[in-house]
Amino acid sequence: MTTSPFDLSNKTAMVTGCNTGLGQAIAIGLAQAGCDVVGVNRSEPTQTAEQITQLGRRFIDVRADLSGGNDVIAQLLQESLSQVRTIDILVNNAGIIRRDNAIDFTEQDWDDVIDVNLKSAFFLSQALAKHFIAENIAGKIIHIASMLSFQGGIRVPSYTASKSGLAGLTKAMANEWAAHNINVNAIAPGYMATNNTEALRQDEQRNAEILNRIPAGRWGSPADVAGPCVFLASSAADYVNGTTLAVDGGWLAR
Ligand code: NAD
Repeated sequence: MTTSPFDLSNKTAMVTGCNTGLGQAIAIGLAQAGCDVVGVNRSEPTQTAEQITQLGRRFIDVRADLSGGNDVIAQLLQESLSQVRTIDILVNNAGIIRRDNAIDFTEQDWDDVIDVNLKSAFFLSQALAKHFIAENIAGKIIHIASMLSFQGGIRVPSYTASKSGLAGLTKAMANEWAAHNINVNAIAPGYMATNNTEALRQDEQRNAEILNRIPAGRWGSPADVAGPCVFLASSAADYVNGTTLAVDGGWLAR
């Protein structure tokens, strides 16, 4: 019997921020492809844990606030590796957004977003890359980027900086780690219906403007990012390095 190149049986994925939204859909998609999942969250991811367990996969619940810096990362990795033998896949999904005019933007709103979206993604990737190299694992790192890895956005300067930074880091990490059989790539979701975009969807005018510009004519659903993530996590993507894959209903093609 031949195995599908998309099969993730016997793999373990760490997914940050998987109690809701895109992270939840990604964690479930990876479990459907055969993975056990280590979920890194600030609060109990009850629904995600239940659904993954129902699929017959293991869910390991690790709690951490990713704005806490390197001590938090060292601790969460140690806790994870005390419960699973190895980790093969990392999805840096946790992220926050703050909205204000660039002219008024505060240092707090800058630091909070950069700390979670960019700094924690860099240092968690570094920690996992050390694990992959030490254990001789052909690891996969997937950052969840954004349309604002390519565009400027409006009233979200720290978010744009963090997501543009992630697209750059995707290439920088791929350049250094491809030789270790580590694939680093990113997914740039378009406009997806999650908590993160609730305010935009409630704004009738912005909602209509956004929908008019999306060739697919709809907001993305969290499940839309799961398949691309399974692909990038699988051996089907062994020769894909340093790319940021748009999953956007055609938004960037306009
Ligand atoms: P969400 O708010 O539903 O989920 C964000 C997740 O990150 C949650 O699980 C949250 O608990 C976690 N998180 C936030 N701060 C954290 C911290 N300090 N420590 C640990 N976990 C933390 O939003 P979402 O839309 O599902 O966003 C998921 C990712 O996708 C984010 O990186 C976001 O920037 C990105 N994204 C979303 C969209 C969209 O349209 N929804 C578009 C492009 C990119």
